[in-house]
Amino acid sequence: MSPEHNASPVPFVVAVDGPAGSGKSSVSKAAAAKLGFAFLDTGAAYRALTWFATQRGIDVAEADAVVASIADFDYRIDTEPGRLRVFVGETDVTTEIRNPEVSARVSAVARIPEVRLRLNELFRGILSGTDHDGIVAEGRDITTVVAPEAPARILLTASPEVRAARRAGELDGHSAADVAAQLHARDRADLQVVDFMSAAEGVTTVDSTDLNFDETVDAVIDVIKSARASGTGAAPSRGGTDV
Ligand code: C5P
Repeated sequence: MSPEHNASPVPFVVAVDGPAGSGKSSVSKAAAAKLGFAFLDTGAAYRALTWFATQRGIDVAEADAVVASIADFDYRIDTEPGRLRVFVGETDVTTEIRNPEVSARVSAVARIPEVRLRLNELFRGILSGTDHDGIVAEGRDITTVVAPEAPARILLTASPEVRAARRAGELDGHSAADVAAQLHARDRADLQVVDFMSAAEGVTTVDSTDLNFDETVDAVIDVIKSARASGTGAAPSRGGTDV
């Protein structure tokens, strides 16, 4: 084995947290695509488990029943930024997990400590096992719990009004007022579990309130580039990625 292929390269992990509607999913995905990195939407796993438990007739307020269902939760997510697909068993749940019914229930599932432990293990396995040079993972506690050692950590924020307007634009057919109310209720519930509104030490805040989409992606890529230039935890290059 030649020296370049001797050590298994450590992927460059980018952790992105933020509230609902901050754009963290679409921005993280676009940044990952530009850099040739993989992309992990962690919220999709909480949503898929919520969908799965509900399909089984489980009341998500019943923590023990939700935890017991994890044994049969066969979850797969594609981490190629261009083709985000989510499967539970053979069922493609990519679209269904975005339904308002799932959004309304997901916080109850996410507040169960055993659920968080199990999903965090899953996420860490995906981060370390990626075959890309790097991976951008987004959620609520990536910078603080899932990957606190990540060399690039970002908190993506935007004003509450801008977040609600963006989310209403994504969900055709729902009134802006309903979308805003649901988004703020979900943030309030989620904030009881993890603080994703203030940046932990060493985390760089990118406020997208006055930035358009491309500007936000560029701002995130700038943070990644400077983290990579500073050399902390940078992956040995596998070539082709100009970060
Ligand atoms: O990011 P998204 O809005 O799809 O996340 C759905 C839900 O999953 C959040 O409202 C939160 O309850 C939960 N979540 C979490 N921790 C993460 C990602 C998502 O608790 N890292």
